Amino acid sequence: MNSGKPARKPDLIAVGGGAAPLVDKFSRSISYLRLSVTDRCDLRCSYCMPEKMKFLPRKEVLTLEELYELATGFIARGVTKIRITGGEPLVRRDIADLFTALGRRLGNGLQELTLTTNATQLAQHADALARAGVKRVNISLDTIDRDRFAALTRRDALPQVLEGIAAAKSAGMKVKLNAVALKGVNEDELPDLIAWGHSQGHDVTLIEVMPLGDIEEDRLDQFLSLAEVRTRLERRWTLTDNDHNSGGPARYVDIAETGGRLGLITPLTGNFCASCNRLRVTATGQLYPCLGGAERVDLRSALRSDDPERNLAEALSQAMMIKPEKHDFRMEKRGAAPAQPRHMSMTGG
Ligand code: SAM
Ligand code: SF4
Repeated sequence: MNSGKPARKPDLIAVGGGAAPLVDKFSRSISYLRLSVTDRCDLRCSYCMPEKMKFLPRKEVLTLEELYELATGFIARGVTKIRITGGEPLVRRDIADLFTALGRRLGNGLQELTLTTNATQLAQHADALARAGVKRVNISLDTIDRDRFAALTRRDALPQVLEGIAAAKSAGMKVKLNAVALKGVNEDELPDLIAWGHSQGHDVTLIEVMPLGDIEEDRLDQFLSLAEVRTRLERRWTLTDNDHNSGGPARYVDIAETGGRLGLITPLTGNFCASCNRLRVTATGQLYPCLGGAERVDLRSALRSDDPERNLAEALSQAMMIKPEKHDFRMEKRGAAPAQPRHMSMTGG
């Protein structure tokens, strides 16, 4: 994708025949695609993957052209928001070309193009992303203590991450910081992290850890309920519920003392599936209609088949039939198997 343009099969722009919008069997309209462009990552966050994570052979991963074709196929079926994710999307070579190509669809079916990144390489990419039309970026940051960051991510990369965050801001993108709340790891630091983010003008969202994929530690040792975190924050600050709706699973509160907004994502303690409007596609083209489910549709086979247009249309319709009503994450027993064997870095966070 050297030119940043789709290289072939422009007919696939009409995947699904420009046909029916995507509505699942629980009448939820699907307008949001999270598209993973790689399962690889330059960090090894201990709650996300093991130190010796096995990555997929490159040939299994969709080409940039195929990713573009899929994305435009979803746009043809009514998807208006695409988040590029991974693994770490910015480790994929020539990824800027995909942003540039998709950016051309903004205002032409696509309303928002965004990404989730660990920001280690964001300083190099921020200007190009902004030029492509990316207005908001989600950045994962679980600690602002360098030693703690190195221990948690198994890489000493906090300075690059902070540089990446600053570059995104300078490029004019709105930054949201996402932090996974982890028992005994960053729980004592969450107020400082929130206060720092707000002082920089960034929204901050906390996330409960989910039991996805095997890691070295027991999930139960990591899990920290955000209900508990909220109670602790209320002892220190004045929190007021805010009806802001980002179209996602977060509930928001305003913090009077910091002047900022805090999002809370509670997949364990507060299920939000009734309003789910999203689908996830892995870097190998597997569509998972639910992060917590095993249901899957193979879009890569459809895309590489003799009649990609028809087969993709059928695959997307099938996905609408199998999207489950809700996920069921439990974290009750020590030593329990994960809810799904796939790591978040595989499905796309
Ligand atoms: N590498 C990029 C990043 O870290 O932002 C994008 C992919 S990462 C899988 C997306 C998000 O998933 C990050 O915010 C990360 O903290 C979160 N995440 C990873 N594993 C998780 C887990 N088991 N439970 C909850 N969140 C998780
Ligand atoms: Fe990489 Fe993101 Fe997983 Fe951390 S959370 S290991 S940055 S994919």
